[in-house]
Amino acid sequence: MKVYDSIVVGAGPAGLLAARKLAENNVEVLLLEKDFELGKKPCAEAISERGLIDAEIPIESSFIVNEIFGAKVYPPNEERFVEISRSGEHSWKGYIIDKPKFLKKLLDIAVSKGVEAKLGSKVIDVKRENKFMKVFVKKNEKIESLTAKIVLGCDGYASLITKKFFNSTKIEYISCFQYTLSKCNIEDEHTLMFYLGSLIAPLGYLWIFPKGNGVANVGVGVRKGSPKFYLDNFIQKHSSIFKDSKILSFGGAPVIISGQLPKITDDNLMICGEAAGQVIPFTGAGIHTSIVAGKIAGAVAAEAIKNNELTEKALITYKRRFDEIFGKNIEKSLKAMRIFEKLSDEDLNKLAEILSGEDIIDLANGLNIEKVAKKLFSHPILAVKIAKALLT
Ligand SMILES: Cc1cc2nc3c(=O)[nH]c(=O)nc-3n(C[C@H](O)[C@H](O)[C@H](O)COP(=O)(O)OP(=O)(O)OC[C@H]3O[C@@H](n4cnc5c(N)ncnc54)[C@H](O)[C@@H]3O)c2cc1C
Repeated sequence: MKVYDSIVVGAGPAGLLAARKLAENNVEVLLLEKDFELGKKPCAEAISERGLIDAEIPIESSFIVNEIFGAKVYPPNEERFVEISRSGEHSWKGYIIDKPKFLKKLLDIAVSKGVEAKLGSKVIDVKRENKFMKVFVKKNEKIESLTAKIVLGCDGYASLITKKFFNSTKIEYISCFQYTLSKCNIEDEHTLMFYLGSLIAPLGYLWIFPKGNGVANVGVGVRKGSPKFYLDNFIQKHSSIFKDSKILSFGGAPVIISGQLPKITDDNLMICGEAAGQVIPFTGAGIHTSIVAGKIAGAVAAEAIKNNELTEKALITYKRRFDEIFGKNIEKSLKAMRIFEKLSDEDLNKLAEILSGEDIIDLANGLNIEKVAKKLFSHPILAVKIAKALLT
């Protein structure tokens, strides 16, 4: 019986980095992806410069679509915006990428390191059998059974592996819908735009991410009602931006926003990326976190295989190392999100008068939320609603 050292399920950012790290550590790895083309799930395609550096990929024109230097956040009344600075100590440098091309590039690198990749191969079941994992794969209507010492579930928000082996009952999702539109009349194509409010994006936000030459990813995430309804409504009401726009593509998908699962390893098993809830909850950004998680999971799995020690206890180092980098950010971002979901439109309008762009970055990404809380203490209503809650 052929026994693979490792099988990685899913060729998104998490799976591609996990597979690459296994191969770089001279461990045999089979990567299984259900689709024939990578990056079919809709995505707003924003990633920070740091994210690309962590992906260990040359920042090159083949997948970079636009450079981003800042953002504007609009409160419900849209009377003003909070600008996230384009320069200075707290500036944010990022990119809009062509995600399918980016993933293809990551796949090429992984294959060049020795990863065996099978596209169009859907994993339909995984079972534990003695000390191995059995993986059942459907390709061209045929079902094949494969055996591996370890399986890494990098299969995204609907992960079969998470559902079967881990406690997924507390996972919460936000529903997203996005158009890629042409001929958008955007003043500054190097700035991201976010819109908040109960009539625009209940318990979520709406985004306009420019791709250059008038093309933009325009989408919304909501936790009440239909995202498409809110997006169509916004586009109709913002004819100054969209009156000549045509739909180039569209699609919807959920994002996990309830934070990292408490347990993400088991004997002969790891889950990684969105499958493990490793997304910044407030922003729904999961490309960078998944890249980092994939790298750590791949390296820890390789070590475990070499030591022939594939117990949960040996694999748990992966979670500890991921938590050192993103654990606190995910926790604090979730906390800030929970507080913000209780705010009224009026509160959000007030906040736009008080907070700076830097404060918003800190809150959304779970960075320096204590500093933001102290600032809000000077405001009578927001002190009780937000500042106290942030500090407890
Ligand atoms: C509308 C929208 C916009 C977003 N915008 C951004 C953004 O701008 N920036 C950002 O950082 N994040 C964004 N995200 C979140 C981001 O897309 C994900 O968090 C990130 O892609 C997670 O990476 P992953 O590798 O864990 O999972 P995924 O990217 O979901 O990859 C999982 C892979 O597994 C494959 N797969 C699933 N099941 C199986 C199976 N049974 N067998 C074989 N293969 C399988 C899938 O086909 C897929 O290729 C957005 C999400 C949505 C829905």
